[in-house]
Amino acid sequence: MPTSIPQETLESFSDFLGSKGLRMTDQRKGVFEALFKQTGHFTAEQLLQDAKNVDDTVSRATVYRCLPLLVESGVIRKIDVGQENKYYALNGRSETFKAQVICSNCDRIQDVDAPFMEWYGKTVSEKLGLEVKDQRLQVQAECPEFRKNGNCSHTIQS
Ligand SMILES: [Zn+2]
Repeated sequence: MPTSIPQETLESFSDFLGSKGLRMTDQRKGVFEALFKQTGHFTAEQLLQDAKNVDDTVSRATVYRCLPLLVESGVIRKIDVGQENKYYALNGRSETFKAQVICSNCDRIQDVDAPFMEWYGKTVSEKLGLEVKDQRLQVQAECPEFRKNGNCSHTIQS
């Protein structure tokens, strides 16, 4: 998948920074660019590595300070899987609602299409006269490897 920065998103993030009295620095732009190299869920450390490849002056502190701003502005969302690693994902990328299936041993996350969830949320809300703002579905599971060996070789190191 080709990665290009959506100019509109960059501009609205820039405006968001402005509303906080912050500026779009080269480093923040580096972090922003690295975001769009992520293909699925990512950790702060993964983002840091990619951001450094874009601009080697990006520091760990820049990434960690930038992440809450990106979440607040709605560019990305935080996925709290109740594990030590915190995951993030870009918002508004997929047309189909995705559920996250998380291996309870290795923390690996798999996205599964769950279009019925979107329908369900809408239907329930409409009945109550509400508007859907956000909804999520997480499934804790054991991956096949864990079930077979009692351990996962792909356990993510934090
Ligand atoms: Zn696993």
